[in-house]
Amino acid sequence: MTQQSIKSSIKTLLKERNAVLLAHNYMRDEVQEIADITGDSLALSMEAARTDADVIVFCGVHFMAESASILSPQKTVLLPRLDAGCPMADMVTVEGLVELKAKLPGVPVVTYVNSSAAVKAESDICCTSANALKVVQSLPEQEIIFAPDKNLGSYVARFTDKRFHLWEGYCPTHERLKPEVVRELKAKHPDAPFVCHPECNPAVVALADHACSTTGMYDYCQKSDARKFIIGTEAGILWRLRRDNPDKEFILASPALVCPNMKLTSLEDVLEALETMKPVVKVPEEIRIPAKRALDRMLAIPRD
Ligand code: SF4
Repeated sequence: MTQQSIKSSIKTLLKERNAVLLAHNYMRDEVQEIADITGDSLALSMEAARTDADVIVFCGVHFMAESASILSPQKTVLLPRLDAGCPMADMVTVEGLVELKAKLPGVPVVTYVNSSAAVKAESDICCTSANALKVVQSLPEQEIIFAPDKNLGSYVARFTDKRFHLWEGYCPTHERLKPEVVRELKAKHPDAPFVCHPECNPAVVALADHACSTTGMYDYCQKSDARKFIIGTEAGILWRLRRDNPDKEFILASPALVCPNMKLTSLEDVLEALETMKPVVKVPEEIRIPAKRALDRMLAIPRD
């Protein structure tokens, strides 16, 4: 089957199944190309919840499909590659978190959405990379447990006096970007702002002209008068940046910024998932309800 015929079979099946196709910003180009919605993980789940689709096909990693199931329990959520996990999300377990909570009684747990549903269910409140500081500031307590991303936690901690107990998790893909590589690129392209994700190592974030979520990065590059940008996040974001800004240049800070898990899902996998209506990701109610409470608490914080 040619790529074109796979795409047209996907389109036909999406209609037949009343399904919406979501693709994370880090997915392969050809998968983003046929998606109904592209974006970052929580925004995708929230948008999908607002549609009247019966089926969500989530091209992303496992915790993202879980978030879609938490927010849309009545919809069938398909994750075309069940083996697409997130090493950072896997760095925190429920048992480990329960143990830490017992050592720090009364200290609230702020959990990044890049975590399993079961870990969210053990948390007081969730956060995204875009709202993490607001979430931390919304809490009356002066101490917090921040999981699982120590890099995002360190970044947020710079803007508040609160005491952070950081979980020792990190994103192996963002961690591969080294400060010396960024310094070299900045010297070579002095007119290009360096824009990076706060999942990068703090030594890299310290060099950024702007550190933000993938959506923030997209908005920043669109609005900026600069003609050239050095991008410090997963390579997949370049597809949409280049498509929507053909007159600007985007330089990936390192060829190592490729997440193997995000690249697993192919068009063939999407087609097979729609044909077989498998694999389904469904969060059981006893986990979904407390996990949703942590997400709802975050969503209740007013936006600017
Ligand atoms: S880019 Fe990092 S945080 Fe995202 S799925 Fe890959 S390992 Fe997980």
